[in-house]
Amino acid sequence: MTPRSAPYTLGRFVERPGDDPVGVDVLVVGGGITGAAVAYEAASRGLLVAMVEERDFGGATSAATGKLIHGGLRYLKQLEIGLVRESLRERRILSNIAPNLVTVYPIVIPDSGLVVRAGLTAYDVLSFDRNRVDDPAKRIPRHRRLDEGRLLYHDCLMISPERLTLAFVRSAAAFGALVANHARADELLTEGGRVVGARVRDLLSGRSREVRAGAVVNATGPWAFETLAGSPLTSGSAGTAPSVRSEGIYLITRQLTDVMTLHVTPYGHFSCAPWRGHSMIGPTEKPYRGPVSDWHLTRESVEEFLTAINAAGLLPVPLALADVQHAYGGLRPLTEDVGDDTYEASRAAEVVDHADADQGGVEGLLTAAGGKYTTSRGFAADVVKRVGRKLGRRLPASRTATTPLHGSDTGPIEAHVAAGLARHADFSPETVRYLALHHGTELDAVLDLARTDRSLARPLDADGELPAQALVAARHESARTLTDVLLRRTGLGTLGHPGEAVLEAVAAVVAPELGWSDERRDAELEQASRALTLPW
Ligand SMILES: Cc1cc2nc3c(=O)[nH]c(=O)nc-3n(C[C@H](O)[C@H](O)[C@H](O)COP(=O)(O)OP(=O)(O)OC[C@H]3O[C@@H](n4cnc5c(N)ncnc54)[C@H](O)[C@@H]3O)c2cc1C
Repeated sequence: MTPRSAPYTLGRFVERPGDDPVGVDVLVVGGGITGAAVAYEAASRGLLVAMVEERDFGGATSAATGKLIHGGLRYLKQLEIGLVRESLRERRILSNIAPNLVTVYPIVIPDSGLVVRAGLTAYDVLSFDRNRVDDPAKRIPRHRRLDEGRLLYHDCLMISPERLTLAFVRSAAAFGALVANHARADELLTEGGRVVGARVRDLLSGRSREVRAGAVVNATGPWAFETLAGSPLTSGSAGTAPSVRSEGIYLITRQLTDVMTLHVTPYGHFSCAPWRGHSMIGPTEKPYRGPVSDWHLTRESVEEFLTAINAAGLLPVPLALADVQHAYGGLRPLTEDVGDDTYEASRAAEVVDHADADQGGVEGLLTAAGGKYTTSRGFAADVVKRVGRKLGRRLPASRTATTPLHGSDTGPIEAHVAAGLARHADFSPETVRYLALHHGTELDAVLDLARTDRSLARPLDADGELPAQALVAARHESARTLTDVLLRRTGLGTLGHPGEAVLEAVAAVVAPELGWSDERRDAELEQASRALTLPW
């Protein structure tokens, strides 16, 4: 099957009329980057796939990251050479398949001696193939010494993890995968001692239907245990609930440094990284013992982090609560239970076949857990190999390492931006650049829509984002709530509350498109405002 070409509409299969069961080869439960990459890998290798996501695509842990596509320099210290090498390979692949969303990113660390220098040399050696890239702008130089006892090396940054996850989802859908956000797998269906699918509820309409599948992949990240524990047959293979999880948060402030600086302090390591004219400071590493779904950002965690940052004294100025414009975070889906010292837990991904006797002896179910955003594509290829074996199918070779993601077939990125600027001189350069990167080959489609109505073409923030993006989100990108639009399809809410006027402008576009009543519109506005307001 050949993929459809852009742009096209990402539909929610759960909106189909009736409640007839849907039958597929593979059902993926969870639409974070792991589920999205598995769905894309499986669909592109000829399998019929369904993927359901309870919240929004990439809205949980996959939106809580430091946005780095990285080899994981610090894993060298733990001698996880295999993980570093795999991550460095995936860094190169993501630069090639999503050149608009992944950019080379300089990082400065203190030259604390021989160990760090040896580590960086090993990092250079392990990324021997780093310059096998299609676009010269994605070349990564070797590390070097700067003045004042500092070292400079490079990794990559995803400018929008949310849109990168969406690109995987759209790539899956382009190969025929049935996908739905705001759709929950309430329970796994079992028959004759095996898992045969899941009962899926559309959380927007309340309607349920069965999705029957030859294999089910549990890709629910930090919820992996809860997903297994939710059905009688699989609760035995869930094992014991993790006693402690690892919370990580990031703070967004005004821009404090013009290059990412990495700090190793007695309180842990953190970085201060420029992003969209601001600084992104984090992550923390704090034990969390409550239920996964109860996790939320707290003022206490932010204050503890500010105290640690200020005690380390490494930023140009001390920071107060009032300096925090926005904050976000999540729980790391670790596969190793190491008690409170979660910093030491491996970031390696793990696929569990529950048919194995010591994993519950239940056929038809795999759990794909842990890992890093960076390694998700390669991990998905491993998972789908296992799925193929389970289904007794010989699958064609994987092509996801060499095929651009949906909307990302831009060619060399600076040439793509320059051509966009030349074609769209009637829009501000900020707008064109932002859209050329975030929407890739769909730049023209977004701007053509903006030209149909002047109210769609009025910039809403310093990046030049347009109301037209909100319309595209609702019409073509399966956004179904105002927060989907503000936090995951656009960047309007990701630097903090953009002000009521921006929320109103977005609601004015989205409400008629999605047929919202006045009450629904008001409820969405209230919910979005609450989601974007910090807890103090
Ligand atoms: C603070 C922090 C910083 C990080 N920084 C980086 C970084 O810089 N680089 C990097 O490579 N990695 C980073 N990571 C790791 C990375 O974020 C994760 O490895 C990755 O996002 C995990 O993706 P996932 O799809 O497995 O989980 P998730 O993104 O959590 O996806 C699981 C999904 O399952 C859904 N779900 C749960 N139950 C159900 C159900 N019953 N039915 C349907 N859907 C369900 C959830 O809503 C969720 O969206 C970081 C992690 C944290 C916490």
